[in-house]
Amino acid sequence: GSRAAAALAAHAVTVIAETIDTHVDELGRLDQIAGDGDHGIGMQRGARAARAAAAAAVEGGAGAGTVLVHAADAWSDRAGGTSGALWGVILRSIGETIGDDDAPSAASVAAGVAAASDGVTAYGKAEVGDKTMVDALVPFSASLTQGVAAGATLSAAWQKAADAATRAAAATADLLPRMGRARPHAEKSLGTPDPGAHSLALIATAIGALLID
Ligand code: ADP
Ligand code: MG
Ligand code: MG
Repeated sequence: GSRAAAALAAHAVTVIAETIDTHVDELGRLDQIAGDGDHGIGMQRGARAARAAAAAAVEGGAGAGTVLVHAADAWSDRAGGTSGALWGVILRSIGETIGDDDAPSAASVAAGVAAASDGVTAYGKAEVGDKTMVDALVPFSASLTQGVAAGATLSAAWQKAADAATRAAAATADLLPRMGRARPHAEKSLGTPDPGAHSLALIATAIGALLID
């Protein structure tokens, strides 16, 4: 029912915060190479605020979609930075798509991720190949949609999509950044993956591990 879905949504936000805590220094170092070095601490501020907001929403009886919308607002308010605004878009898009009424289906979760991918590209104007989180999010969404449409369980389709996101994030090492703070220092970033693509792949992988068929 919707209470279990709300608890799972809040648990997913907790897992995001724990994943960022584990990788905060690594993400900062990646962003130091061509950016301003704050990707780790910015993501940590946002994810911790989102975790608290999600827990409070569950406590207040909210459904899964509302839990994610509250988490989204807290993240974008508190994180600062480009990635904070974009993670707000991601969580809000998924929350608004899955809604509160029913246990979300695999199809509605995949539709939520597709809405997140569309929302991030509409908001940030980056395209695939610009060396941003879009390079991981677009193939993640495409793989998830395809897997669910082919009849895979959410957990199986998500894990396969997370692997696609991980490969795509690693492949950004070969790209020159065309958006964001890394753009003026583009050559310095060659050989290093985009921080936002890498963090998105880490988060997708961690959530895949908590989904059960
Ligand atoms: P800031 O660049 O404001 O310091 P962060 O360091 O937290 O913010 O996040 C940087 C990440 O944001 C980049 O690695 C990239 O993945 C992502 N990013 C930057 N600009 C855009 C954009 N226009 N569209 C999508 N993602 C972007
Ligand atoms: Mg930064
Ligand atoms: Mg910054």
